[in-house]
Amino acid sequence: MGALGGIFMESVRVDDLVKKIVEKVTKELAQEAKGRTSVGEIVGAAVEAQRAWQWDYNLDARTKILSAIKSKLLPHAEELAKLARDDTDMGRLDDKILKKKLAITKTPGPEYFTTKAISGDNGLILEELAPFGVIASITPSTNPVATVINNTICMLSGGNGVVFSPHPGALRCTLRTVELIRGILAEEGAPVEVVSVLSDASLDSLKELMSHPDIKLISATGGPGVVRAALSSGKPAIGAGPGNPPVLVDETAHLEKAAKDVIAGASFDNNLPCIAEKELIAVNCIADDLKELMCHNGAYELKDRSKIADLVELVLTKDHKIKKDMVGKNASVYLEKLGITPPPNVRLILVECDEKHPFVQEELMMPILAMVRVADFREGLAMAKRVEHGFKHSAIIHSTNIDNMSDMAKTMETSMFVKNAPSFASIGVGGDCPTAFTIGTTTGHGPTTPLSFCRIRRCLLHGAFRIV
Ligand code: NAD
Repeated sequence: MGALGGIFMESVRVDDLVKKIVEKVTKELAQEAKGRTSVGEIVGAAVEAQRAWQWDYNLDARTKILSAIKSKLLPHAEELAKLARDDTDMGRLDDKILKKKLAITKTPGPEYFTTKAISGDNGLILEELAPFGVIASITPSTNPVATVINNTICMLSGGNGVVFSPHPGALRCTLRTVELIRGILAEEGAPVEVVSVLSDASLDSLKELMSHPDIKLISATGGPGVVRAALSSGKPAIGAGPGNPPVLVDETAHLEKAAKDVIAGASFDNNLPCIAEKELIAVNCIADDLKELMCHNGAYELKDRSKIADLVELVLTKDHKIKKDMVGKNASVYLEKLGITPPPNVRLILVECDEKHPFVQEELMMPILAMVRVADFREGLAMAKRVEHGFKHSAIIHSTNIDNMSDMAKTMETSMFVKNAPSFASIGVGGDCPTAFTIGTTTGHGPTTPLSFCRIRRCLLHGAFRIV
């Protein structure tokens, strides 16, 4: 064998050796991390890892590692979607796979950062975005896996670390997602514990996490309870709270497209997403046509008053709160329970009612869409504003009247406002929006990006560096 062959053989052996060492270290790190169970230990390890991540990994290194997370997680989208479906018994598998893929491929990364520079007579001012440190991220049962992926990419981009608090109803899928991410971090030689997770999902552990002195920012994605808890912690917080998004269809809308879009948005993952159309407000002169088109495209209209009363009893408690075990089922499940044979491919149940009805007022998170008629756009807009309850979350319009679209955009003051598309266009499905699964409604952060999890720091040089 010639000299070159010898070198080749040597390099193969070295590669094998390096691979074996990496595997061994990865296993040891995982073992060590599994041993940590107390909140204090988990946060302590996350703090150390975050310091290394902030100081030893520049933007280029972070970008490479986050790209590896993205590409290596992608083949697990289906596995994670199935696990989330099984864990929570909510939602639709195909939509869950899409959500994971969306979080992996369309969450913005370090490329999102720009430095602001202001030069004046007295020199140069720089404003840069710096990490907070270790963030506590509280995740919802309705979207456990995609929130972890989306938050991980955004938070790590800015040099932060994160400790996730899983929802009790989504423990297995949350732990598995974090395990996969940590495995990739280890393979890439990055500090594994920069992404950590509480080993249990108790409220006590969550409270201990939020009040831990080394937690520097709280990101709370969920209902009003968790947002209140985060905001009363005395720490900086992102409150991504509930919504009740209205969709308004006026007489100028392209009706067939509007019908299809409303069904697609309201039935996506069985209406679990906080951005999804939760009640339909239709201008009277097109309401019947719209309903007919919807019924030709996957909706089933429940007309019988006694069956509507049965449905209310099936999914709501006596005081009209949602029954948790009825959230996010397929439309066919509710129909079967009412003794109705579901039409093939039904995705959504349509119920015409008035504004006071709990199906309009409550955030159902079920593929049951209440429809209310209004005389005209003005009446519809006033109603949309009332039923959104001031959450400032999301709203949707189907119209070709520019004035109506502008009026609604201004009046609703929502974090997300979609014109002539399903609600999910606002998180990047079939459009250009970057993906966000934590929408800072209560605290005004809006759809979160890597910038949302950073502090602004100013640095100036007096008397120099202006070049004109
Ligand atoms: P949830 O409020 O029941 O649970 C969310 C998380 O908060 C869980 O991890 C839970 O353990 C914790 N939690 C609940 N009550 C708490 C309390 N009193 N103190 C401290 N922690 C508490 O929410 P869910 O049912 O899992 O998710 C659905 C809700 O989340 C809906 O209201 C939906 O609109 C909202 N959501 C909002 C966004 C957003 O970006 N704005 C995204 C997804 C879901």
